[in-house]
Amino acid sequence: MSIFGILAVITSLTVTLIGFPAQIIKNYKRKSCEGIAPLLIYCACLTYSLWTLYGWTKPDLFLIISQTSGCAFSFIVLFQLFYYARKETKMQCDKCGKEMKIEKLVPRMSQRVIGKQYFKMKCPSCGEIKYMKPTKVR
Ligand SMILES: [Zn+2]
Repeated sequence: MSIFGILAVITSLTVTLIGFPAQIIKNYKRKSCEGIAPLLIYCACLTYSLWTLYGWTKPDLFLIISQTSGCAFSFIVLFQLFYYARKETKMQCDKCGKEMKIEKLVPRMSQRVIGKQYFKMKCPSCGEIKYMKPTKVR
């Protein structure tokens, strides 16, 4: 393997084994994923998943090690993205003032950009329904 090949292997591993864990720890400590573009994480999950599948079919040990870890870590960030957005999204009911509960994450028809999703909020006492943009996922 050439010097560039060796350097490529090392730097690829630093992204998956140092870069992703650093982001995961940061998100965990601040209990937020603010500032991370969801589209970046969606693309990372897709890319690492396909490279992992390709690595296992070859089979190529370097691809398996670097891409499988990348796959696992990118899905952890994806989980954090939705988990913290859900925790931080709070809304009061207009009619009775109670805190509304999140029913589910739904894409709005007016939004054509991938990653623009809204929470469907429902009031537990009067049944009022509203849609709210996740506050910290942007
Ligand atoms: Zn209400």
